[in-house]
Amino acid sequence: MQLFSIFGDPVSHSRSPLMHNSVFKNLDYNACYTRTHLLDGSKLKETFFSLGLNGANVTVPHKEAAFNACDEVRGFAKTVGVVNTLVNENGKLIGYNTDADGFMYAIEEFNNINNILILGAGGTAKALAARFKQDNINVSILNRSEKRLPYFKDLGCTCFTWNDFKLTTYDLVVNTTSAGLKDEDLPAPKELIEPILKHTSYVADAIYGKLTPFLQLAKAKNITYKDGADMLLGQGVLANELFVNAELNKIDIKKYMARSFSL
Ligand code: NDP
Repeated sequence: MQLFSIFGDPVSHSRSPLMHNSVFKNLDYNACYTRTHLLDGSKLKETFFSLGLNGANVTVPHKEAAFNACDEVRGFAKTVGVVNTLVNENGKLIGYNTDADGFMYAIEEFNNINNILILGAGGTAKALAARFKQDNINVSILNRSEKRLPYFKDLGCTCFTWNDFKLTTYDLVVNTTSAGLKDEDLPAPKELIEPILKHTSYVADAIYGKLTPFLQLAKAKNITYKDGADMLLGQGVLANELFVNAELNKIDIKKYMARSFSL
């Protein structure tokens, strides 16, 4: 039997085991997907191999550590330096990023997206910003602190911290911070978030499984929003395809993965 897992801290909230196991079970694929609470990202590679895994997903806060742990990184992950999917290929750790394309899938129904504000500057923000830039979308970043901004400046994004933010109009504002995941925090002070929400058509949050304080505010203002569930589904389908080495049909993977959301 093949074995897969998700690494994160926290990880107990993750729906990935349900999603992938739903595919394996319904398509009679001999595999099992577990979760692993990993505190120290530098222990990722040794933990992966000591558990005898065939593949894994990586979530907050270890995606950059996962990039560094890989023997080889392929595709879009190389552009962004962020890995969310690991595959054991003959004892070598191969890294991929399926988050960005998963998010593009999630926002397909939002029209005319030319200006995006990303809240946060972590691994998810990097992947999304680089992916949006590929489509020539204008990207602004608003982060709590300065230290992660140079990557985004080099990418051609307009960058702000909470101290120097200048409001303009956006088509979409995306929360990629972990504010609201374990707590009831907004991704930035309310005096910044309120006017931002008055100047955007759509709102999205990478967090799924709960209506974050950020989405609660958007909902109260009647702004069209979506949480991270579709992004999760998109990245999961692409990761599962890599895990099974394209042995399963993508449409079937999506069908059974989506079904797990109603469990
Ligand atoms: P990282 O740890 O790489 O980055 C976290 C970012 O959030 C940093 O910019 C950090 O700012 C900021 N931040 C953390 N806490 C706060 C706070 N209390 N207030 C304001 N800003 C804060 O995380 P990831 O990019 O890996 O993940 C971010 C979120 O996205 C997580 O909640 C994760 O669960 C979710 N996610 C969902 C996916 C899905 O499929 N739906 C896929 C990927 C991620 P600073 O630089 O100042 O420290």
